[in-house]
Amino acid sequence: MLRNRTDTLPGMRITALAGGVGGARFLRGLRSHLDRLDDGPHEITIVANTGDDITLFGLRVSPDVDTLLYTLGGDIHEGQGWGRANESFTLQGELAAYGVEPQWFGLGDKDLGTHVARSMWLAQGSTPSEVTARLATRWGLPDQHVRLLPMTDAFVETHVVLDDGDEQRAVHFQEWWIRLRAAVPAQRFVVAGLDRAAAAPGVLEAIRTADLVILPPSNPVVSIGIILLVPGVRDALRGTAAPVVGVSPIVGGGPVRGHADACLATLGVEVSPSGVAGLYRDFLDGWLIDSGDAESFGGPAGLTTEAVPLLMKDLPTAEAMAAAAVDLGLRLRNRP
Ligand code: GDP
Ligand code: CA
Repeated sequence: MLRNRTDTLPGMRITALAGGVGGARFLRGLRSHLDRLDDGPHEITIVANTGDDITLFGLRVSPDVDTLLYTLGGDIHEGQGWGRANESFTLQGELAAYGVEPQWFGLGDKDLGTHVARSMWLAQGSTPSEVTARLATRWGLPDQHVRLLPMTDAFVETHVVLDDGDEQRAVHFQEWWIRLRAAVPAQRFVVAGLDRAAAAPGVLEAIRTADLVILPPSNPVVSIGIILLVPGVRDALRGTAAPVVGVSPIVGGGPVRGHADACLATLGVEVSPSGVAGLYRDFLDGWLIDSGDAESFGGPAGLTTEAVPLLMKDLPTAEAMAAAAVDLGLRLRNRP
């Protein structure tokens, strides 16, 4: 399909739902793309998955929020995609010397500063939204016209019910993902506390009043799929006047990184751009797939699909992907 560049809207407001690495790299590209456009400043509101949150050593860790903070704030460990650049692990070494568990979750010293601050502010009575805003200020997000919202202020955690022979047991999502490397099949995902949770302040409004909603290439099951379970979010996406444009995390028959294939298998969903689009079918207007997947793409029917390179090798490639998503969204807005 031919791409025509569309004019911008003045002061665009873009809302995105995001997990960790895939979401953060894409959004850094989006920020950089929007900065080049006229008619700015253009604002980004990010609704972050907090199903990955876990309490370790008495500290509340929010991996996806932290990956977004460090990536947009410019101090992410680029090779890993999570954690801080130039990190040391002195504290974790001390804990290991005492035999304190778990040791499978990497917590660097600088990163621990974030968790200590978060846990302290939560203990003092601040909500996760307030804490996230405070952390985001340190990383300069407000100055970049980026608003980072946790999906909910409720205490929620994604747990994984394992398909482990006769015995049924559930583990925290992080234990399944990191310690078990998602190699033990998951029977289902359960988000403790989410059915009674409310969306965090501003979340539903940001979806309803956006000029454009984007789903970055985050994990469709355990990142975006969890945000979609927050009461009101899916309805807001169905009801918003803004076009909703998604970016496939599946390229060439598999996830670009991580274990999204194992997550999709649990839902019985095909590991393909079509399979993922099917999960969003009730609200998705536009869908970006990788150029290499154009021939094999099989729908869903009625979805405006465009094939572009979808590998984020560096900032320019992420920026080009984000530009394609924005252009597609603007064209969908102008559609009669
Ligand atoms: P996590 O919470 O750290 O796992 O990160 P996300 O949920 O935000 O993103 C994970 C998803 O990003 C995985 O399913 C990957 O396939 C996808 N992903 C990572 N890098 C790329 C990339 O360069 N291109 C595309 N299309 N997807 C990517
Ligand atoms: Ca995550």
